[in-house]
Amino acid sequence: MEKVIIIGSGPAGYTAAIYAARAGLKPLIFTGLKVGGQLMDTGDVENFPGYKDGITGPLMMEDLRKQCLRFGTDIKYCLISNVDFSQRPFKITDENGETYLSESVIISTGAEAKWLGIDSEKEFSGKGVSACATCDGFFSKGKDVIVVGGGDTACEESIYLSNICNSVTMLVRGDKMRASNIMRDRVESNQKIKVLYNTHVVEILGDDNGVESVKTNNGNIDCYSVFIAIGHKPNTDLFVNQIELDSDGYIITKENSTKTNVEGVFACGDVQDKVYRQAITAAGTGCMAALDAERYLSKIKS
Ligand code: NDP
Repeated sequence: MEKVIIIGSGPAGYTAAIYAARAGLKPLIFTGLKVGGQLMDTGDVENFPGYKDGITGPLMMEDLRKQCLRFGTDIKYCLISNVDFSQRPFKITDENGETYLSESVIISTGAEAKWLGIDSEKEFSGKGVSACATCDGFFSKGKDVIVVGGGDTACEESIYLSNICNSVTMLVRGDKMRASNIMRDRVESNQKIKVLYNTHVVEILGDDNGVESVKTNNGNIDCYSVFIAIGHKPNTDLFVNQIELDSDGYIITKENSTKTNVEGVFACGDVQDKVYRQAITAAGTGCMAALDAERYLSKIKS
């Protein structure tokens, strides 16, 4: 039987593994399909403290994977297909039908950005198309950019970009924003942000050097980059009916902790965070989850 099983291999899961391994818990981590998570699709990461010259997402995740191994983490490169938190120890089944029992579980399955689903979006991914202004906005310093979406995320990204870029044009597909009133007011009163309602992206245009413009239903708009901010989907299908989720599907954790409604099951990283969504915050909550699991294990032993 395992002491800790970690599901998911982004910065949250790997950090949880490093802390759990160093605490002598011999964690077992299941990586999922995309080993390393969302950062495997990220070019340069310049805002993770400690990397003074920046680092690519894949390299950072490979370093984290090796750091896990160094302290004795057991890594299994497969998907989990079923969990049963109704019994103790908890029962976890992988995609090959192999079953594992564990005294505690840390969930770090992350979230995925939603995309428009047009071919040119993939073509220019990393060459001007991004789903994270905090990660990639700096590369568009002083340029004209487009943000797609009308929710709180799109507003936040637009405001963030307005401090860096020459201009921000927000494309809202309907005749109103879904964002909270306060965020909409902030956007509409920002001189550098122009909001175009009833406007959707038809195609993203450019060449080998990257994005040049966006073709919309209302004509073409020149831009240097495009930020898609139409929401995220947490990877929680596996946990429906097992654990408490909010109306957007995110795992609910207790305030100032990584505890879920099931004692002994913890959640960290983007799977429980719709506000910050950064590698560093995911790593921070990964650390918290390992400490919470360690305390839980000591409590049930005593
Ligand atoms: P939302 O689901 O709230 O908004 C998505 C936006 O994208 C909507 O305007 C939607 O338009 C638009 N959209 C969806 N699909 C497409 C498409 N294919 N083409 C064009 N536009 C599209 O997602 P958010 O990420 O903004 O927010 C998710 C949750 O997180 C919310 O509850 C939000 O309040 C919360 N949040 C909180 C923050 C905070 O507290 N600081 C920060 C960020 C998010 P339509 O309305 O027409 O469907």
